[in-house]
Amino acid sequence: MKELKFEGMPLAAPIQKALAEKGYTTPSPIQAKAIPVLLEGRDLLACAQTGTGKTAAFALPILNSMLGERKRLHRYEVRNLILTPTRELAVQVAESFSTYGNRIPFEIGLVYGGVSQVPQVRSLKRGLDVLVATTGRLLDLIEQGYIELGGVECFVLDEADRMLDMGFIRDIRKIGELLPRKRQTLFFSATMAPEITKLASTLLHKPEEIRIAPLVTTAEKIDQYIHFVEQKDKLTHLLDMMSRRMKDNP
Ligand code: AMP
Repeated sequence: MKELKFEGMPLAAPIQKALAEKGYTTPSPIQAKAIPVLLEGRDLLACAQTGTGKTAAFALPILNSMLGERKRLHRYEVRNLILTPTRELAVQVAESFSTYGNRIPFEIGLVYGGVSQVPQVRSLKRGLDVLVATTGRLLDLIEQGYIELGGVECFVLDEADRMLDMGFIRDIRKIGELLPRKRQTLFFSATMAPEITKLASTLLHKPEEIRIAPLVTTAEKIDQYIHFVEQKDKLTHLLDMMSRRMKDNP
C-alpha cells in the first residue's frame, strides 16, 4: 500500500509549507486517521497518549478551518477552545498552533492560573480564534464576564483522563453547558475508563472512535528489573550488577 504523506492530505498550502519547514512528511497514525475525519467536521473520540502526535492531529484541521474568508472577531469571543489539564501542556499546545500556523493570520490566547490575569484579559478583549486554557482560570474569567463561549465552533478536551484524575469533572460539565449545541467536539484520552466514556457520551455527537497504541513501547529484547535501593547506594549497586552481568556473559 502507498504510504500516506501530508502532501496527499487536503490541508491548505500555508499549513503544508509549515509542515515541510518542520521536516514533517509523514503523518503519524493518529494524524492519518483523525485529520480526514476532523476536516469533514465530525466529532472524534480518540484514545491516544502524549508522544503520538495528537496535538498536530487537532491543530492542523482547526488551522485549516480558519483559512478563507475571515469573520471579524467580537469582544471576548472565542472560536476554538482547547482545554488542557496543566499549564505546561497549555503552553505546549499554544506553541504548536503558532508553529503550524506561522503563515496564517489568527489570534491565539492562553489562560491559566497562578499568574496575573491582566495580560490574559487584555488578549481576550480583542476576541480569539483559538483559546488554550486550564479549567479553573477559564471558569474564573467566564464568571467575571471576560470570556464568551456561545460562538465556539470547535471544543477540544486534551488528556481528559488526567483532567478527571485531577477532579475537574464538574468544571468540565459546567463549561460544556456554556457551549453552543452546534459545534465540533474532540476528546483525547490515554485511557478509556468507564467515567471517561460516560463524560464523552454527554459531550460528543456520533463521534468517530480512534484507538492508537503508544508509539514509545519498551524494546522487546530488553529484560527489565526493579531493584529498590537507598539513593546513596544506587551507584555501587549499579556497578556491582553490571560487573556481575559481564562476568556471566563475557
Ligand atoms: P504530541 O503527541 O502531540 O505531544 O507530539 C509528540 C512529538 O512528535 C512532538 O514533538 C511533535 O512535534 C512531533 N510530531 C508530531 N507530528 C509529527 C510528524 N508527523 N512527524 C514527525 N514528528 C511529529
